[in-house]
Amino acid sequence: VKSKIVIGNWKMNGSAELVESFTRTMLDNQAAYAGIRVVLCPPFTLLQAMADALEGGPILLGAQNVSEFEQGAHTGEISAPMLASMGTKMVIIGHSERRASRGENDRIIAAKVKQALSVGMLPVLCVGETAEEKARGDSGAVVWQQLSVVLHAIGSELFGQLIVAYEPIWAIGSGSTASTDDILTITTAIHAKLAQLGIQLPLLYGGSVNAGNAAQISSLPTISGLLVGGASLQAGQFLLLCSNT
Ligand code: 13P
Repeated sequence: VKSKIVIGNWKMNGSAELVESFTRTMLDNQAAYAGIRVVLCPPFTLLQAMADALEGGPILLGAQNVSEFEQGAHTGEISAPMLASMGTKMVIIGHSERRASRGENDRIIAAKVKQALSVGMLPVLCVGETAEEKARGDSGAVVWQQLSVVLHAIGSELFGQLIVAYEPIWAIGSGSTASTDDILTITTAIHAKLAQLGIQLPLLYGGSVNAGNAAQISSLPTISGLLVGGASLQAGQFLLLCSNT
């Protein structure tokens, strides 16, 4: 049964022209991803154009980030109510690129998750280990630490309302995905720890996913879908990736 989710994260890429051509290709070929939830996350400046282009169709609009504040004197920030008002249904939070270069820590990430949930947007919480942590055999512990800190910070009443994306940092943009054995081991462990807390959450995999490996990774029993960077920037490849999921 195809009930998986595929999220395209454009990162700091794209243009009005790409929104137009990309969405036209996607909307003209809906049979290729029937039954799959597809979400596109362009940069903030393209959200409105993407919202207009996707209106009435099956693809959902997502954002790549959200402020931890609700409103006020926070120059340059974009709030959850602002995103929700343009039809944004989902938001990526705690991406490793933001943890590493924008100083996002667990407290900030938890506050962002709360902001998203307060307006009914689905947070996609990103977790993942570095190459060094993997080499030390710490992948499982690192990932669980990142996830459990946020779960405790947001409170048990909100526990069940996240999607978690496992994105090993060394696999992002590197061309080398984690092995299916590694993905299975880590995600099985996360599911088991969540189950001890009485929680069941969808887990996605991200990191060098492409049309060629999407089928194998997305068919893992612990995986509910894919978070895609580079391969979400070219409509033909993304369409094929979705149809292979
Ligand atoms: P790549 O698919 O380009 O490796 O990026 C993964 C990612 O970071 C998605 O959020």
